[in-house]
Parts: sequence; C-alpha cells; structure tokens
Amino acid sequence: MARIVVIGAGVTGLSCALRIQEAGHSVTIVAKDFPSGFETIDSATQINFTSPWGGAHNRFILPPPGAASDSQEAREHAMSLLTWDEMRVLHDHHPEAGITFMKAHDYFEAPEPAQTTLTEDKARNEFGMKEFRFHTKEELPEGVKLGYEYQTWCVNPMVYCAFLLRRFAYRGGKIVKREIRDPLEVFEMKDLAPFDVLVNASGIGFGDHDVFITTGQTCLVANPCPVSITRINASGMGSFNVSRNFEGGTIIGGTKIPNYWNPNPSLELREKLLSNFAAMYPDILGPDGKFTVIRDIVGRRPTRKGGMRLETEIAQGNRCIIHAYGLGGRGYELSWGVADKVGKLLASHIGSTGTTLAKI
Ligand SMILES: Cc1cc2nc3c(=O)[nH]c(=O)nc-3n(C[C@H](O)[C@H](O)[C@H](O)COP(=O)(O)OP(=O)(O)OC[C@H]3O[C@@H](n4cnc5c(N)ncnc54)[C@H](O)[C@@H]3O)c2cc1C
Repeated sequence: MARIVVIGAGVTGLSCALRIQEAGHSVTIVAKDFPSGFETIDSATQINFTSPWGGAHNRFILPPPGAASDSQEAREHAMSLLTWDEMRVLHDHHPEAGITFMKAHDYFEAPEPAQTTLTEDKARNEFGMKEFRFHTKEELPEGVKLGYEYQTWCVNPMVYCAFLLRRFAYRGGKIVKREIRDPLEVFEMKDLAPFDVLVNASGIGFGDHDVFITTGQTCLVANPCPVSITRINASGMGSFNVSRNFEGGTIIGGTKIPNYWNPNPSLELREKLLSNFAAMYPDILGPDGKFTVIRDIVGRRPTRKGGMRLETEIAQGNRCIIHAYGLGGRGYELSWGVADKVGKLLASHIGSTGTTLAKI
C-alpha cells in the first residue's frame, strides 16, 4: 500500500482519489475548496473553483476522419466512453449521486467532416454512442444543417461531487483544507509527509504558462427540460442546456471566451442566451410561457494549450508528481478516463521504482 496525496477536490481530484483508493492505497486530499451546497458556494471567492459552475453533461466530441488512435481527439473520446460507463454504474447503484440519463440532441449549423462523414453504423459501433440516430430534416430547428441524438448523462455538479467526497471519506480517505503555493512544499508538510506520490489535480496547475481560462456565462433556471440540447453555430457561440435535476434546475448557456477575467454576469447576455434557447426549444417555457431565473453563473474553465497535462514528473529531490489538470470544458465528461490513467501512471511508477513505500 502506497501513501498518496491528491491536491484538488474538484471533479478531477475526487475521481482520481477514489480510483487510487480502490487500488488499495491510502489517500489524503488537500485543497482550498471542497464541494458543498451549490446555493452557498460564493461566486466572488470561489470563481476559480470550476467544478460548481460547470453544467455538467456529456457531449461526445468525435475525432475527425483519419485521426490516429493516439491523437488527443481519439484519446479524449476513449476517456469519455470510459466515463459514460462509470456514470451508468454509479447511476444504477446510487440514485443519490445526482446523475440522470437522457437523450442528447446535437445540432450543427455548419457541420464539419467529423459530422458529415458520420454514419449510424460508425456512430454506434466505432464511436460507441448508444441509441444513436440522425434527425430528419423535418425535426431540425431552423438554420440547422445536421443533427443527431444519442443517450447521454447529466449531473447536478455539487450533488455529484459531494457524493464522491462522501464516498471517499467513508472509505477512510483523509481531508485537509489548505491552500498550497507550490506542490514541492507539500512534501515538507509535517502533517502530510512522508508520502510516496503527489497527484496534482488543481484545475489550473501551478504557474504553467500554457494554462489560461475560458470563461463561460450561463443562466440557471427552474424550468425542467427532458433533453440535453447543444446547438453549435457557425460563429462559435453555441446555445445549450444542461438539466441538473435533483431540484438543481436547468443550465442555459453559454459563452466560451478565452482570457476573459470579468467575474460579473451581463444581464443583456442572459436575455440573449434565454431567448436563443427558447427560439430553438419553445417547450422549455412550460405552460406559463416564461423562464424562472434562479441565478446567473460565471465560471472559468481551466484550459491548456495543447490539451490537459496528464503525465508523471520526477521533480527536484526525486519526488514523484502525477499531473492531471487543464481539463477545460470537459472535466466531468473525461473524469473517469483521467482517473484511470492516473491510476495506471501510479501503478507504473510504483512498479518501475520498486518504491520504498512510506511507512503508514
Ligand atoms: C460554464 C461552464 C460549463 C461547463 N460545462 C461542462 C459540461 O457540461 N461538461 C463537462 O464535462 N465540463 C463542463 N465544464 C468544465 C468543468 O466544470 C471543468 O472541466 C471541471 O470542473 C474541472 O475540474 P477540476 O477538478 O480539474 O478543477 P476545479 O474544479 O477547479 O478544482 C480544482 C481543485 O484544486 C484546488 N486547488 C487549486 N489550486 C489550489 C491551491 N493553490 N491550493 C490548494 N488547493 C488548490 C481547488 O481548491 C479545487 O479543490 C464547464 C465549465 C463551465 C465554467
């Protein structure tokens, strides 16, 4: 049994911590922010803790034709399938986990080769999309050229993350609430050291120059929605909903603006998001014919040039750090794939070094 410290209690850190625990290791999570009731999370001080502000649903992003099996697109798709399977198991065994399965409708105003070369056979058998079918011309919203549906999952983020945290603690995991300045300092902390490996699931990492934020404004409404719709338009601003369920309302989105640091939501933008979505899917308005707004949301996706960092680093003093950060807008949908990879990197480090494991 190895002794592992995980920095981060967002969806990435929690999923990694649980996987490592399942492999029989002793795990401590150290983080500045932990999941709590969404209603009391403070948008002013916790805007950089992304997991509460996410949708969060799974939308399959298909690798383009000819993408190599080890390309980032193909690897991410494989991770999303692994996550889909894990969400199914959690959903079936833990109704309290905050997971809902429903139909996803993906609509494209200007489809790309990944969509135009897709066939139902490819979608189902090559890309593993369950209950896939193309929408007929009559079913497509105005202005949409191509659309399809498949079975997907949505989570109520803080119900789900609190479930993961509770599970972790119930299985004996330790929790330390603390801000870290540098991962190497953790190796010196008296209450944590000695330990064998540090997992860095801090969202944005520590001083990584390739990391930037992609800000998203969404609006949380009380109106329920039985499907998860994403419309990608030609100019990049999409229109989507995520049904959080579990009395968590429905997210209507949203923007994706790189390096935009304004933490304040725009009311004008809110109106645009809501009217765009209602024009595409009028049933959302229900019998009253209106939205019931709960709150505006501004979140910062921890994005990284070249994609997430998922690798082992042997740092100064022969200290092993496994990095798992920079998940951008896909932290939930790739979470169990990332956790599995972290588990493999850990096993390979322990195997290759014959690590003299820290005494517990
Ligand atoms: C508007 C919006 C919509 C989104 N929709 C979706 C969606 O539908 N599907 C999807 O998959 N993803 C979605 N995302 C993205 C998703 O929310 C993120 O990818 C995910 O939450 C990242 O999780 P994380 O655990 O890596 O980082 P975070 O959630 O940011 O967690 C980082 C953790 O590290 C800790 N930490 C950081 N620095 C320090 C430090 N110095 N000391 C101590 N602790 C530290 C924090 O306290 C926290 O516990 C969305 C995001 C936004 C903003």
